[in-house]
Amino acid sequence: MKIIKGFPADSENHQLNMIDIMKHAARNYARQEILSRNPDGSLFRYTYKDSFERMKKLANALDALDIVPGDRIGVLAWNSYRFFEIYFGLPGIGAVMVTLNLRLSIDELIYIAKHAGIKFLIVDDDLVNMAEQISQKCDIKGYIVITDQDVNSIKTTLNPVYSYEKILEEASNSYDWPIIDENSAYAACYTTGTTGKPKGVYYSHRNAYIQTIAFASVFLMSVDDCMFQMVPMFHVLGWSTPMAGAYAGSRMIFSGKWNMNDLDEIAELMMNEGVTASAGVPAVFSGMLEKIKKMEKKPDLSKARFISGGAAPPISVMKGIYDLTGAKILHSYGSTEAMAITTLNMSKPWLEKELSDEELWDLKKKQGAISVGIDVKIVDNNGNELPFDGKSSGEIWLRGSWVTRSYLNSPETKEKFTEDGYFKTGDAGNIDSEGYLKITDRIKDLIKSGGEWISSIEIENTLVSHQKILTAAVVGVKHPKWDERPIALIVLREEYKNNVETTEIREHLLKTFAKWQIPEEIIYLDSIPRTSVGKIDKKVIRAKYKDIYLQKKKT
Ligand code: AMP
Repeated sequence: MKIIKGFPADSENHQLNMIDIMKHAARNYARQEILSRNPDGSLFRYTYKDSFERMKKLANALDALDIVPGDRIGVLAWNSYRFFEIYFGLPGIGAVMVTLNLRLSIDELIYIAKHAGIKFLIVDDDLVNMAEQISQKCDIKGYIVITDQDVNSIKTTLNPVYSYEKILEEASNSYDWPIIDENSAYAACYTTGTTGKPKGVYYSHRNAYIQTIAFASVFLMSVDDCMFQMVPMFHVLGWSTPMAGAYAGSRMIFSGKWNMNDLDEIAELMMNEGVTASAGVPAVFSGMLEKIKKMEKKPDLSKARFISGGAAPPISVMKGIYDLTGAKILHSYGSTEAMAITTLNMSKPWLEKELSDEELWDLKKKQGAISVGIDVKIVDNNGNELPFDGKSSGEIWLRGSWVTRSYLNSPETKEKFTEDGYFKTGDAGNIDSEGYLKITDRIKDLIKSGGEWISSIEIENTLVSHQKILTAAVVGVKHPKWDERPIALIVLREEYKNNVETTEIREHLLKTFAKWQIPEEIIYLDSIPRTSVGKIDKKVIRAKYKDIYLQKKKT
């Protein structure tokens, strides 16, 4: 990539370091509250000032354990105020926070721990068992257990073991933060993608710093916000909300350990604590909507805006949540490689005037405007750039301030990144003349039937707009005549479980699609396979149903 050097500026050596965001939060928002959901559902409360004091203690404690700049330190933990302390205290000494997705298999975690060369592992007490399995295959020098108990009362083969609380208790709260070269790694997140081994994306302090400020500004975060951290902090830096919250001085709530069965409690917490901002995958909002529908008194979340990312949210979910609670759901697109908020769908005053209500809802389906500082290209199969006309679809290529340029030590770097710094996302889409990106599908999820393309996402969205359907997944599988044909997996809403005819589903699809685009096979299930971050797992579905049309032919 060619870089032109201009006249030297005086601030040339200033380095963007993530700890400066927390110094700013402690200086300006010292009294702002940080909350964290304890395992028993109660709330822990302290302030930015308290948090920063503990970050300094953590930094001293890590120094004392002989952790030095450049060391990779794994973190296997649920969202909590302590994970937030680690977000700043650990990289603040120059070490790298390697966030480990606790929903991955042990083999994948072992692969990541080895690939990253993890020196120490910080682990929540209820995940010690996972840490033990990882430790058997890796050369990890020590373990820091996050626990409220006496660490000696935990029976474990991990050795040596330190208590997070104890090492903080014994450390000084005065720390002289070093100035770190801004291109040094701040943190790493491994993408499991859909094929091959996990791939390491190492974010620099500079990447994370710029992303934080861009995120906070496009999401209009402020000191008046109450940000609820639902997104796992191990997934793409929790989609940057922990850092953007600190930058904006927002009140923060860390979700603790939770799952879809806790959504009642989560909705209540949001209401009681006046949550104004949060983020999650569509499955979370869809689950929340089902719960809210059953609540006698609907929660008033009219001051809240939620980012829905990771996959396209059905319009029925966005509209349902808005109608019942007043909360706005904003569609956003991102990835491990291009971080959160690659796009955010915000409306524009002139469009609000010009478009009908229905057209405005239609617009909300799009992924949104590309963030400042990111270059985007839409590229056809031959590498030619396509116009931003809202029609021409091709692969989305991204380059910019926080988009990674390679995977650490991986042969896949060559295939996924261009020499001039673009990340080939593997997503197909178009951009309209207002700058809104629309993803038509993952390239490998597009279905090629008889030489024509079918978008699995479009069919899924139409399926879930049917009142009886809760979730739908569409994938292409081998077909003896048409090369590939779609199949649809459907989860019905509880009340319609034994009360649906496939013909009515087909008729519903026929209102939007041509007959040849509609799946012959429609399969009803109780749940659809999902990935470790809650997205529909099309790899697993394709493998399971790969012979469905081939077998039909034989019979
Ligand atoms: P990950 O690296 O696990 O965060 O996965 C990133 C991928 O998720 C992207 O390349 C897209 O395929 C998909 N994705 C993320 N956000 C959206 C969205 N809003 N709409 C459709 N697909 C999305």
